[in-house]
Amino acid sequence: MKLLIVGGIAGGASCAARARRLSEQAEIILFDRGPFVSFANCGLPYYVGNVIKEEKNLLVATPELFKERFNIQVRTESDVLSIDRANKKIQVKDLKSGSIYWESYDALVLSPGAAPIRPPLPGIDLPGIFALRTIPDSRRILQWISEKKAKDAVIIGGGFIGLEMAENLVRCCIHTSVLEMQPQVLPPFDREMVFGLHEHLKSRGVTLYLGDALTGFEADADGKITVLSKSGLKLRTDIVILSIGVKPEITLAKNCGLETGERGGIRVNDQMRASDPKIWAVGDAVEKRDFLTSEWTTIPLAGPANRQGRVAADSIFGRDSKFRGVQGTAVCKVFDQVAAMTGASEKALRRLGKTYEKVYLHPGHHAGYYPDAKPIHLKLLFSPQDGRVLGAQAIGEEGVEKRIDVIAMAIQMKATVYDLEEAELCYAPQFGAAKDPVNIAGMIAANALRGDAPLAQWDGIDLKKDFFLDVRNKEEYKKSHVGGALNIPLNHLRSEMNRLPRDRAIYVYCGVGQRAYYATRVLLENGFDARNISGGIQTFDGQISG
Ligand SMILES: Cc1cc2nc3c(=O)[nH]c(=O)nc-3n(C[C@H](O)[C@H](O)[C@H](O)COP(=O)(O)OP(=O)(O)OC[C@H]3O[C@@H](n4cnc5c(N)ncnc54)[C@H](O)[C@@H]3O)c2cc1C
Repeated sequence: MKLLIVGGIAGGASCAARARRLSEQAEIILFDRGPFVSFANCGLPYYVGNVIKEEKNLLVATPELFKERFNIQVRTESDVLSIDRANKKIQVKDLKSGSIYWESYDALVLSPGAAPIRPPLPGIDLPGIFALRTIPDSRRILQWISEKKAKDAVIIGGGFIGLEMAENLVRCCIHTSVLEMQPQVLPPFDREMVFGLHEHLKSRGVTLYLGDALTGFEADADGKITVLSKSGLKLRTDIVILSIGVKPEITLAKNCGLETGERGGIRVNDQMRASDPKIWAVGDAVEKRDFLTSEWTTIPLAGPANRQGRVAADSIFGRDSKFRGVQGTAVCKVFDQVAAMTGASEKALRRLGKTYEKVYLHPGHHAGYYPDAKPIHLKLLFSPQDGRVLGAQAIGEEGVEKRIDVIAMAIQMKATVYDLEEAELCYAPQFGAAKDPVNIAGMIAANALRGDAPLAQWDGIDLKKDFFLDVRNKEEYKKSHVGGALNIPLNHLRSEMNRLPRDRAIYVYCGVGQRAYYATRVLLENGFDARNISGGIQTFDGQISG
């Protein structure tokens, strides 16, 4: 068996190492057009920000290590130019010598990744406009910053990489602006969830231009660049970072007639086999099935690329491993905040016409009685039919990704909100609570599905016409409240119930939903039609005010 692998980073390197573990006899050759294999591209923004101080720390494995430990041949600076499927061979250009040669295969794995999108706009090729994908890219960015003594940066795109770069450029004392076409940063999230992040970014000196699209660049006489936008913005800057997404690298696959899909990726089956029985493809270059919706999708993340590399190796060596699909589990640090999500967002469910229910909650990341509990703003999406968990998003300073990881696993196990209620999770005061935020999310959702505590949503009620009951104390009410809400603090509810209408729904709210839950139970037990507005005033602030 002679196995050739094109692309030696996340998917390719993990495939090579797994292949060796499955066969000592196979000849394995890994090609990459770049000067490195197996480097941590996820660490690049932090290398630019000098958090990762040495370039060598980005190298997870070297060609020497591949040779010595795994007996895998690595050929860097080797560009694979074409695939001859009929004769099972690939054409390779050695970029050091310029020579071109053919290499035959019994099995071929493509893991060529994805290329940053560079829209064909005026001025796109001006010096000083960068994308970040490789170690040489980060070197060029650092060199430009140092040579130009850069003071201003504009990042195009407020996605994961854009925000990580914003944090790291601010760390380099560069005033940073982010221009984002959507009315929010982190577009995969639902908008109300990231409202707080907008404020947080601004508090750290990042200027946000949301809901505005890039139209081009102009070179200024003094060496600066002017970024132009649809709304007429003209942002003068020293450096531009393009982070508006990536598109699958499918040139090789397309040129040799492999099937590609409508999302622009290589089509593969659940064993990562492409439309040719001797070729497998993995990572950012392929289209995968969404685990929940079964739609074809491209989600460029390192975890799926690594797991797919393993599945491809298993398949090549006769094992029947299957890739389960992607669910978009992702996390991003934005200065002191962490944003994480898994599964479907509300906007995706809406777009697909799926029925769903949602809850919002804002618990502390650990027990309130232990110092420094930080709130986690959590949203859980689930099916109203059977309670199956569909997605979750969370923002906060601490413990965010831990909760999303638990829910990610629940989604993969097709668990329900009833399972989240029952999950036995770690608890000591420093780490969580006897009722962990994941349990509480499950309990709120399950209480709603059982009819014990019906929920309402701020975006589903009429703020002008409906009847609102605010059960917070007088001081909280005085600071801010919703429209004409009646204030009866929870502790007075039983004695002042006669002030409430019996002929219409009562929408109950408090700060985060807990007191309103108690109030809703009291009112239901007393024959009122009461509903708890999920997430209380905290959710109102993001969903309606934001
Ligand atoms: C700045 C940055 C930060 C990121 N942060 C995260 C993160 O925090 N979490 C996360 O999950 N994901 C993150 N990602 C995404 C993650 O790195 C990718 O999803 C993952 O690397 C994809 O693996 P891959 O093997 O498909 O492609 P890649 O890792 O991109 O590897 C593809 C390789 O193939 C080579 N290649 C392509 N065509 C050819 C050819 N014809 N001949 C030879 N070689 C070729 C390329 O040079 C490249 O080295 C980040 C990406 C970037 C750029």
